[in-house]
Amino acid sequence: MQEHKARIIGISRHRLLTDGDGVTTLVSFYGCLLRCRYCLNPQSFGRGRLFKEYTPESLYQEVRADELYFLATNGGVTFGGGEPCLYPQFITSFRELCGQEWHLNLETSLNVPVAYVEALLPLVNSLIIDIKDWNTGIYREYTQHDNDFVINNLHLVAEQKRQDDCIIRLPLIPGYNTEADRSVSRHVLESIGFTRFDLFTYQICEY
Ligand code: SF4
Repeated sequence: MQEHKARIIGISRHRLLTDGDGVTTLVSFYGCLLRCRYCLNPQSFGRGRLFKEYTPESLYQEVRADELYFLATNGGVTFGGGEPCLYPQFITSFRELCGQEWHLNLETSLNVPVAYVEALLPLVNSLIIDIKDWNTGIYREYTQHDNDFVINNLHLVAEQKRQDDCIIRLPLIPGYNTEADRSVSRHVLESIGFTRFDLFTYQICEY
């Protein structure tokens, strides 16, 4: 697992119902193992030393400025990236600092070792999961990585009966998948109990 410090590429405050319940602050971690062709955050795997390093304590001190909003709206902090699931120890410590009243959410690809997700699931209230496409060939072509971890982690979420806490992003990826491929992905996910989907089309933004 990762260190107790993390580089953060951005902190976006006062978001309303865009990435979790209530008012949220989006904290974007540096670092991602994937290389999606249309990545919107290529700084996630650029020159890391450009970004400020935080401890859980220093991040907590910064984002707690909005605690009243979080408590009044059942909001909190959404960890995105990059890939937030690469930082289970950091998020564990952050949860210990903020207590149980803040909602913590993940925006993730779930393409990390299962042990990381096992550690994170008890800590978070909701997950927004961009699976790209269930088909391994499409996934590999688009991200340059396999999706074995993703599939195993989705089964883990289902075994722990957390499907209702998840929104699954099912993108139409120009040049990589089709509506028919997306229907297959959705059908497989429904068969293991997921019901909440976000269907959209990636905007082409090559790097
Ligand atoms: S998972 Fe997200 S941050 Fe990582 S390469 Fe893909 S789009 Fe970019």
